[in-house]
Amino acid sequence: MSNVGTPDNPLRVAIVGSGPSGFYATEALLKSDASVRIDMLERLPCPFGLVRSGVAPDHQKLKQAIQLYDKIAQSDGFSFLGNVTVGHDLSVDELKQSHHAIIFACGAESDRKLNIPGEDLKGSHTATEFVGWYNGHPDYRDREFDLSHPNAVIIGQGNVAADVSRILSKTTDELKHTDIAEHALAVLSESKIRDIYVIGRRGPAQAKFTPKELREFGELDDCDPVVNAEDLALNSESQIELEDKSNAGNAKVYKLFNEFSQRTPSGKNKRCHFMFLLSPLELIGKNRLEKVRLEKNQLTGEPFNQSAIGTGEITEIDTGILFRSIGYRGIAITGVPFDERRGIFPNNDGRIIDDGNIVPQLYTAGWIKRGPTGIIGTNRADSVATVESLLNDLHNSTFDNAKNGADFLIPLLETRNVRYVTYPEWMKIDTVEIKQGQEKGKPREKFTRIEEMLNILD
Ligand code: NAP
Repeated sequence: MSNVGTPDNPLRVAIVGSGPSGFYATEALLKSDASVRIDMLERLPCPFGLVRSGVAPDHQKLKQAIQLYDKIAQSDGFSFLGNVTVGHDLSVDELKQSHHAIIFACGAESDRKLNIPGEDLKGSHTATEFVGWYNGHPDYRDREFDLSHPNAVIIGQGNVAADVSRILSKTTDELKHTDIAEHALAVLSESKIRDIYVIGRRGPAQAKFTPKELREFGELDDCDPVVNAEDLALNSESQIELEDKSNAGNAKVYKLFNEFSQRTPSGKNKRCHFMFLLSPLELIGKNRLEKVRLEKNQLTGEPFNQSAIGTGEITEIDTGILFRSIGYRGIAITGVPFDERRGIFPNNDGRIIDDGNIVPQLYTAGWIKRGPTGIIGTNRADSVATVESLLNDLHNSTFDNAKNGADFLIPLLETRNVRYVTYPEWMKIDTVEIKQGQEKGKPREKFTRIEEMLNILD
């Protein structure tokens, strides 16, 4: 009988990724009856994943989740190894040697593609790039966004599209006391964008905004929301959808569109136009984006399963910048099975599978497990479910060897000259960021380059 999970032989778990799902998995493991030691591996020196670099800077309340993650990180039995890329600095095979179980909670860091001509023209960007840039993510620090054309187009009507359009719609005064990266605020304050077109391929009843996020467009200092009342006509299937009790969120969103459509323009400098039943066919321009060609759609299918099909009617919008905000995709890691079509790690209840067979020791949680859906809190139940699978495997004695955890990995990192960052070291970086922010009346001024973070330590 294995004694893994007892104080003499604690269960060693490596968690790859330090966003919400990684921390909720840690919390669930620490609350379990087993004796557990957790090592969290993160490719950046700083933790918290999308809460740090995805959540919009003007949504500071959502970032309060960090206070809980910080408390979890101070628990006995937890260690953080930042600035370590699994699949590059350490292999999955090495993690299998050091830990009984590995939970991949590494999110969905890439984007879905539109697969239309002109998608890669200069001026056509992914929402991920823009979000990472204004949030000071080191990967996107040096991206350039030309905001000199009066029109901007956003493809997609989810909450990421709402974030991108809202940041483009806000004034410098509305942003300057947030933790928006300094380089982004400087560029946004020179923006010439006046009209922002937020385009959905389906109708107003299918938009994926949450009501709270959409409502904010009615409360902006210098931007009016614009909805054409004629665009709010519904087919009978959409009416059924909105009358369904389970769909109260969409009904509220539709009500807000209605309210926006009845407003008289207040003469503010910017307008954010919500447009429906349009799909981009082609991005056009000689050397850079000049316009987007769109096809009018109609809906087909049963209620809650309606899809958009083209009608052949074409319209065009002149623009210098376009953001594709049509959902994220996970990235493969060598040594872990990957579902190319869905962009996730294939799994049964969080146990990673290969061709239907469970791969021992490998688990997954969060967006890389289920796809890019849900708000921060959705990840808690998701991670708890994965940890339940893992603990069931522990009780069924799947894990039988003593493992050395980080004690096995650290010498490997040292031989490879990887400057790993511990949690107390991250706390030093955190203190300096907060101090830098206070000087400017901001919650923090982030370091946007990995070298700058490491310089604080060395
Ligand atoms: P999302 O909610 O899934 O929205 C994606 C949008 O892209 C939908 O409107 C979708 O339309 C559209 N789309 C997909 N493929 C398309 C294509 N080929 N052509 C045109 N349009 C296409 O995804 P997201 O906005 O990336 O957000 C991801 C998750 O994070 C969501 O659960 C979101 O709520 C959450 N989030 C929450 C917050 C917050 O709470 N404040 C902030 C940001 C993100 P269809 O519906 O027709 O597929």
